[in-house]
Amino acid sequence: MSFDNVRGYSTPGRVSRTPQVSGTRSVVQQLGPRPDGSIPFSVEFNPPRDAAGEARLWRAAREFERLHPAFVSMTYGAGGSTRDRTIRVTGQLARETTLLTVAHLTAVDHSVAELRSIVGAYADSGIRNLLVLRGDPPGDVLGDWVKHPEGVEYAEDLVRMVRDLGDFHVGVASFPQGHPRSDNLDDDTRYLVAKLRAGAEYSITQMFFDPEHYLRLRDRAIACDPVEGAKPIIPELMPITSLRTVERAVELCGRPLPARVMERLHRAAGDGPEENRAAVREVGIEIATEIAERLIAEGAPCLHFITLNFAKATGEVLANLGYTMSPAPAHA
Ligand SMILES: Cc1cc2nc3c(=O)[nH]c(=O)nc-3n(C[C@H](O)[C@H](O)[C@H](O)COP(=O)(O)OP(=O)(O)OC[C@H]3O[C@@H](n4cnc5c(N)ncnc54)[C@H](O)[C@@H]3O)c2cc1C
Repeated sequence: MSFDNVRGYSTPGRVSRTPQVSGTRSVVQQLGPRPDGSIPFSVEFNPPRDAAGEARLWRAAREFERLHPAFVSMTYGAGGSTRDRTIRVTGQLARETTLLTVAHLTAVDHSVAELRSIVGAYADSGIRNLLVLRGDPPGDVLGDWVKHPEGVEYAEDLVRMVRDLGDFHVGVASFPQGHPRSDNLDDDTRYLVAKLRAGAEYSITQMFFDPEHYLRLRDRAIACDPVEGAKPIIPELMPITSLRTVERAVELCGRPLPARVMERLHRAAGDGPEENRAAVREVGIEIATEIAERLIAEGAPCLHFITLNFAKATGEVLANLGYTMSPAPAHA
């Protein structure tokens, strides 16, 4: 694994360098109502794999800038070169856009020293908001988890490590239907609360298609700990744009989609040899809009969209919900 592009911070200790951008805003500070009274939204990007992917990401980022998201987050994947690119591109997003940038950080295949170095590289770019995760075993998300010999076992440990390094704002993952590895929902909730007690300020959920699952998670968290469990739980949504994206959604949910959602998508796809993509897309946007409307009515603090680095589908859901875009900047 190469860390050639990661600057500095091989030395353990607190990261105290002054951020180069206004990265000290925290996600939680962004969660109040917007000037027009609407609730904030945010988007998730994935590290681009190549130059074409990077261009696509930047197009999406510029489009989203005009919709004023509360924050954007960049996932963190397996593989040395992808990781180097992730750190570089995430830093560029923070420095070269107006977007409050949250970097995901996972413990997969990293020693504590490497994790500190990565956190330092993000701090160099002015990034002070991290979504701290354990990560999944590379290749098989349900395969055996093997801790790095000098790494950490659980996200909770990583939250503590990051908080000890300096003034970072930390979020963690939560699971409306329970993490696939958790034995039961009570244990799962206790593990979430442990991450919040360790210093996380909020959580972002795994994607779901039944708002009831989100609402029950919120109730469970508060019942488990009325203080820590009341920290914001940001629901994650993904507009389905084709039957192929359903596979991705199932992978990210770790569960099958509800039967009634699948029925609507299949009905739209039709019986022909080729799926009716326009109809599937329309229904996918409709489903995401309906889930968002319910979540807004239930007082969700923010809507977090998986975008796969495209702005169009999420933009359409937001337009359905009444969010408007600023005019495109005039270029000389
Ligand atoms: C919003 C969001 C963003 C994500 N982004 C990424 C990403 O960028 N990159 C990536 O690789 N993955 C990402 N993931 C996936 C995530 O890394 C996996 O779901 C991973 O398997 C669990 O991560 P965690 O941080 O919840 O781990 P943990 O909280 O450590 O939990 C891992 C497992 O251990 C159990 N557990 C936790 N604490 C204890 C304990 N004290 N004792 C016993 N068992 C315990 C949990 O129930 C769970 O089954 C994301 C998930 C979400 C919801």
